[in-house]
Amino acid sequence: MIYNPSSLQAEEFINHDEIQATLAYAEENKNNLPLIDAILEKARPKKTETGYTCEGLNHREASVLLACENEEKIQEMYRIAEEIKLAFYGNRIVIFAPLYLSNYCVNSCVYCPYHAKNKDIARKKLTQEEIRTEVIALQDMGHKRLVIETGEDPVHAPIEYVLESIKTIYGVHHKNGDIRRVNVNIAATTVENYRKLKDAGIGTYILFQETYHKESYEQLHPTGPKHDYAYHTEAMDRAMEGGIDDVGLGVLFGLERYKYEFAGLLMHAEHLEAVHGVGPHTISVPRLKKANDIDPDTFDNGIDDDTFAKITACIRMAVPYTGMIISTRESEEVRTKLLRLGISQASGASRTSVGGYTEEERPHDSEQFDVSDQRTLDEIVRWLMETNHIPSFCTACYRLGRTGDRFMSLCKSGQILNCCHPNALMTLSEYLQDYATPETKQLGYEVIQKELQKIPNPKVRQIAEQNIKDIQNSNRRDFRF
Ligand code: SAM
Repeated sequence: MIYNPSSLQAEEFINHDEIQATLAYAEENKNNLPLIDAILEKARPKKTETGYTCEGLNHREASVLLACENEEKIQEMYRIAEEIKLAFYGNRIVIFAPLYLSNYCVNSCVYCPYHAKNKDIARKKLTQEEIRTEVIALQDMGHKRLVIETGEDPVHAPIEYVLESIKTIYGVHHKNGDIRRVNVNIAATTVENYRKLKDAGIGTYILFQETYHKESYEQLHPTGPKHDYAYHTEAMDRAMEGGIDDVGLGVLFGLERYKYEFAGLLMHAEHLEAVHGVGPHTISVPRLKKANDIDPDTFDNGIDDDTFAKITACIRMAVPYTGMIISTRESEEVRTKLLRLGISQASGASRTSVGGYTEEERPHDSEQFDVSDQRTLDEIVRWLMETNHIPSFCTACYRLGRTGDRFMSLCKSGQILNCCHPNALMTLSEYLQDYATPETKQLGYEVIQKELQKIPNPKVRQIAEQNIKDIQNSNRRDFRF
């Protein structure tokens, strides 16, 4: 197999020899300070007439930075990652929650408690009525954006069930609540099924690669449809062929050597850019967690918090226009550190069990993994504001068709402060009015007043101010941000 980023064959665009050569190159150059300085200079955002621009890094350059152990250079990486984050995403953090529909699974992923042989975990599948109840519970917290999750099971969770569930979710309008964007994290499927998901109005299609190392992948997925490395790795190409513009990548850190995964992840992003003209919409950075029948200590490749932070900063520098997602697998402490280094989306008040939002006690018997950050959504919103972030419930890009490269051009044109910032403030105001505790509400409006001043265009600022007044003074909720 030869390395070819434009190929549609998994083993050519995620080429093992190229990854090995990249790791060797990175190791050779990890103390090459002139080269590291040149790569850092390339990564730095540059000012333009309208905002900033960023070149990004290729997988070889980024791997050199990841291998570098010079503390001064690592601190420089963190500063640049933070500059990029502020230049393209500002201080907004988009909030979402996962919704587990079914944990029946025919696969045998050795790290996942849903694996078919686990007789210990309670198997559940939500009915449409139960989905409605879960969605009402999520709306009552203030959520507007969900990711639906299922195990892979053609009998219990066929595509028709997923499509019907999406329709149910979009159809629930409880008090002032509605779910405005449903992202989907289900197993790799066919072009035809991706087309159906697109027609059902999904936002991002998310699929974690788990590991890019083919041999390990096959050992970690010994039986079931997920065993097929090529079918799994080529899923994003089929999704894009089926018309889905926004795809979300990720690896499960802890399964394989992180440097290998990092190079593979970036090669996957380069491949999507080369073939489809647009890179991934998001990259998630999940780490392996304790779960029913799963002990992370039995896996050899766990990464510590500092390495995790370095990976996050290096991804931020390599693909500056790709959103980055952190889940509640991570603690408040880790999340606080990583938000600064490039994260643009975070989940809040998550339940990883089927039916978990309507169950009182944790842990639940169908939980997928341990949730480290167990705070309520109100606490998450307050924490974000206290750490100088703007919690955003905005879904306007998706609603207005600004997906794929149309979102990228908004990001690249530097218009984010005139567009995303006011939307974030207006959706925050909706949240404060409808769901916040008095303490969060008071802090929220102080933050909003301050942040409104950052909108450069006076006309846009005036409209945002007026809309926020309308939200405060009435029950008007027809802005559909
Ligand atoms: N079933 C779908 C598939 O096969 O891709 C996706 C849904 S699965 C519920 C979502 C993700 O959870 C998986 O892709 C995996 O990376 C992650 N996951 C599984 N077990 C985990 C564990 N023990 N700790 C952390 N994340 C885990």
